[in-house]
Amino acid sequence: MTIETEWRDYDVVVVGSGGAGSHAAQAAARAGASVLIVSKDPIGCSDTKISEGLATVRESGSDDDSEELLSENLRMAGGDLPVTALTDAFAQDSKDAYDRYRLQGLRPAIDTKNNTPKSLPLPMGGHTRRRSVGHRNSGIAFSHANWNGVIQDSRIDYLEDCWFLDVVTVEGSDGEEGGQKRVVGGLIYDAARGKLVAVRAPSVVIAAGGLSTLYFPKTDTMRGNTGDSYAVAARAGADLVDMEQVQFLPFCVASPPSFEGLLIGEPVTASFLGVLRDKNGKVILDGVYLRTRAECSAAIMRTVEDGRGSPNGGAYLDMTANRLHPLSGPYFMRFLASALPSAYKVARQALGRAAADCDEAWEVRPSAHYMMGGIRTDANGASVAGEGDGSIAVGITGLFASGQAMGGLFGANRLGSTFLTEGAVFGARSGQAAAKLAREAATQIKDGAEDGVFADYIAATRQRFGQSGKLAASALKLDLQRESWDNIGPVRTLERISRIDALLDGLEESLDDVAIPDYAEWNQAFIEFEELRNLVTTARAVAAAARERDGSIGGHVRLDCGEISAFSHPYSTVVSKPANDAWQVRRAMRPRTPVKQIAAYKVKENWRKAQVKFLRALPAGMQDRRLEKKYKAIMGDAGAAPEVTPGGVDAAIGEGTKA
Ligand SMILES: Cc1cc2nc3c(=O)[nH]c(=O)nc-3n(C[C@H](O)[C@H](O)[C@H](O)COP(=O)(O)OP(=O)(O)OC[C@H]3O[C@@H](n4cnc5c(N)ncnc54)[C@H](O)[C@@H]3O)c2cc1C
Repeated sequence: MTIETEWRDYDVVVVGSGGAGSHAAQAAARAGASVLIVSKDPIGCSDTKISEGLATVRESGSDDDSEELLSENLRMAGGDLPVTALTDAFAQDSKDAYDRYRLQGLRPAIDTKNNTPKSLPLPMGGHTRRRSVGHRNSGIAFSHANWNGVIQDSRIDYLEDCWFLDVVTVEGSDGEEGGQKRVVGGLIYDAARGKLVAVRAPSVVIAAGGLSTLYFPKTDTMRGNTGDSYAVAARAGADLVDMEQVQFLPFCVASPPSFEGLLIGEPVTASFLGVLRDKNGKVILDGVYLRTRAECSAAIMRTVEDGRGSPNGGAYLDMTANRLHPLSGPYFMRFLASALPSAYKVARQALGRAAADCDEAWEVRPSAHYMMGGIRTDANGASVAGEGDGSIAVGITGLFASGQAMGGLFGANRLGSTFLTEGAVFGARSGQAAAKLAREAATQIKDGAEDGVFADYIAATRQRFGQSGKLAASALKLDLQRESWDNIGPVRTLERISRIDALLDGLEESLDDVAIPDYAEWNQAFIEFEELRNLVTTARAVAAAARERDGSIGGHVRLDCGEISAFSHPYSTVVSKPANDAWQVRRAMRPRTPVKQIAAYKVKENWRKAQVKFLRALPAGMQDRRLEKKYKAIMGDAGAAPEVTPGGVDAAIGEGTKA
């Protein structure tokens, strides 16, 4: 059998229909481009859809918030690894991007006093200001707005159940800037129709999400996160940045297996008195609600490595002290149920009633949640390259990225609630830039002149259908997932990185021995094969960057190296894979925040942590009255009633996120 090829022409192809892809497609269409959006899941079904629905809206909760503060917050929390042009773009565009979502029908929780989006009562996940806004129906509200935007625009064609396999590029001609590679389109496997689709287009926007499936089942994300974004870009020769920086969210389910990996809380969930404990009840981290996700995950994983972890390889989040106080306890329970409603529901179902009531501590373990590294781009999502010292040049002309696919915005730590805004900001920027490039493209790739270039890609793909072999990609995937958690997961050493490299050597050879039957429609073995191929390439990039990162910073702990100090000179890792050559790794030095500013930031941070310690040391009655006052100040009098019990949670959630 020879799988048929269908040819199509567009100005812009967008890969992925989550928050980032949908916004890219709409922006490109608004700019006059003909757009194809391709998605392996149904349109809009993505991590964006299963998210908690909390979005960063600048100035929504604190009068003294500003663009400068938000940009600085992103950079400093990210260990000075984030690129300033990207954090500035995020801070600048975030309000407009959010307003565009509202025009598509998104309805935020509203502060009825001044009729503006209402932020959570406490700063979330490392933010220095209150600016995280909740939405009724959580991520579904966002995904519905995205779906509406894509489906209703007649300039956007869409393909669902379709796997984007590769970007097709040609070497640049002398007349082109730098003579660098140029995108001429992409190749797609349309599973439902059993066809290959060869798309000629001068711009491709990769918005195909992250890589967390590399760590399955220790992840809270959708199963389609098989690193396709990074693998496709790496095969085309693009630079990837900060690939060692995987974000592991600290508070996820360790057991039972049917809930394993799912999100049950954020640092802010712990509220004023929540602490982390080891299996002996010893406090391993206090002031949890003020900590970053990275700090909490590191504390848990170091405890596990010391042999003091919980039975399922985690630790205990103990919030009982919040609950026990007669005056402030009801406020806390209401806060717990309404701040992250979906996560709280999962906690109740997975851990049971006593845990949901906070009568007992929660067993928690980190899960892979977000890839903070990714395709190296400028502030418009265009692929960039250049020397390790940070001097930037055009990377691959016509290659763009946005959302989780893109790197450089978060560095070593992503602040909570930032994605839903990020996807809209950089989706729109990359869509506009992709449309502009298509308009200006010297060669319109519509005359068949480049068809020969596609021939190799098509022939290589066709050959896989009917490949004989003794191995199943799905089984190889399981080995890779287990070993990735153990060796390039939240805890690493040089020895462990070498172990995964050895496994990857073997897996690369095994790919030619994977059995793939010879039929075109819904060939699941072919899909498993492609996803394994992408996972292997992505794991290579993570391992190469992890080897270069000689210390603990952000998303992971290096047991054989020290902490990287905030005062040392920051650098990002940059990896790339020239065709038929070994992975290349280098460093891009980053400007360090002036020492005085870091010192001031640290003083403020320590002062806030000292206040929590003081609060915890107060006699019970005094502590309770103080907490009641604090909760009243941030939640108002209504915060206390009705007291939330598992049975009453749904009603309370409805109140908390009233549109
Ligand atoms: C449980 C959970 C809760 C979260 N809560 C929040 C929150 O409250 N606030 C916040 O800001 N962030 C939150 N996040 C993070 C955020 O939701 C995700 O990081 C974000 O949605 C990623 O968006 P994306 O557009 O980059 O990718 P996705 O939304 O994951 O979309 C990826 C798209 O690419 C497609 N795709 C992938 N590979 C291919 C391929 N080869 N060919 C074709 N299509 C492909 C997929 O089908 C999908 O359409 C949460 C994440 C999770 C998992």
